[in-house]
Amino acid sequence: MSWIAIKPDSDFSIHNIPFGIFTNPQTRTLRVATAIGDHVADLKVLYDLDFFNGIELDDVFEQDYLNDFIALGKEKTSAVRKRLIEIFSNPDFMGSKSLSAYYLFPMTEVQMHLPVKIGDYTDFFSSKEHATNTGLMFRDPANALLPNWLHLPVGYHGRSSSIVVSGTEIVRPKGQMLPPEGGNVPVFGTSKRLDFELEVAFVVGKGTALSETVSTDDAEDYIFGLTLFNDWSARDIQQWEYVPLGPFLGKNFASTISPWIVTLEALEPFRTQGPVQEPAVLPYLQFNGARNFDIELEVIIQTEQGSSKTVCHSNYKYMYWNMAQQLAHHTINGCNLNTGDLMASGTISGPTPDSYGSMLEISWKGSKPLLMPDGTERRFLQDGDTVIMRGWGEKNGIRVGFGEASGKILPARS
Ligand code: CA
Repeated sequence: MSWIAIKPDSDFSIHNIPFGIFTNPQTRTLRVATAIGDHVADLKVLYDLDFFNGIELDDVFEQDYLNDFIALGKEKTSAVRKRLIEIFSNPDFMGSKSLSAYYLFPMTEVQMHLPVKIGDYTDFFSSKEHATNTGLMFRDPANALLPNWLHLPVGYHGRSSSIVVSGTEIVRPKGQMLPPEGGNVPVFGTSKRLDFELEVAFVVGKGTALSETVSTDDAEDYIFGLTLFNDWSARDIQQWEYVPLGPFLGKNFASTISPWIVTLEALEPFRTQGPVQEPAVLPYLQFNGARNFDIELEVIIQTEQGSSKTVCHSNYKYMYWNMAQQLAHHTINGCNLNTGDLMASGTISGPTPDSYGSMLEISWKGSKPLLMPDGTERRFLQDGDTVIMRGWGEKNGIRVGFGEASGKILPARS
């Protein structure tokens, strides 16, 4: 399959070939890279060695972000990905061992960076199970879903400045909240209800002009690829501030993404039908074909002392509103897109408690504490906890994974 040793359970099989940004340890510069097995390959070196001959390319491989590479367009980025598959499959492409030492580096020895300079960031709320759970907890259990929810993919504009790459430590936020013991007068303090949200985000690969709309049929042409997304949330701050304009400081202190963008082409084997949409949606939200993807998702909490537990096992296929619908809805009013925009799914919860994608749901607003293997309890996240998200598709011996999006909670600044 490949002249590079790839373990069967590797996220970075020959079928994946994701894109990211790393520091080349020899040149100390930031480069466009791909991942193959336990290695990172430098595309700038491959370009300079004429491995991409025959593909009409600008030299976009020594860059701080993937944006210029993505902006080449799918025809070229797909050709580069296909060539990389050829290079890693065919020993004739390998060149000498000494040559590969200039472009292949052990993954554990390199530093990854935020892959995309994110322009605008939008967060949807597209899992019916998650929307229902939060409705049950905070509103009328008889009407858990708000009247609009089944008719449009609810979303809000977030903030991109605080989106960080996996491994970045997260400082517990402070803010206004109602006192935990009750009452209507807010207090100021550190968040006591810090949470994760298990999400998958897509990167916009092609911009649109103001007033242009994108149909569900064309939407995937505008999507470069997907990444894991942890939308860290301070529930106590969020609950006090969110009416009537939605999330603000309870969300925008940090979000974590995985360092690799997995292309839509690599996810093709995992395409699947989504949940049946009833009532029928308006024509501009109707779509053809299978637009969901069967991607296993899991969340692990690891304590400061090293005790760890998988607290959630979910799947991207549970999404009620798919990416094509999200993108069509986002542009239906003429709102323009830019290459590098990020659109997140919203928390992806499944139907059973072990598939809930946030501590808010797992501990049911703190009423059902989670027991860790070391005997400690978690209602929400504690200082020193590391949250690790993983995602992968696996079918007919083909495995395509995302790596991980992880972050450790540090105590609030004094
Ligand atoms: Ca969210």
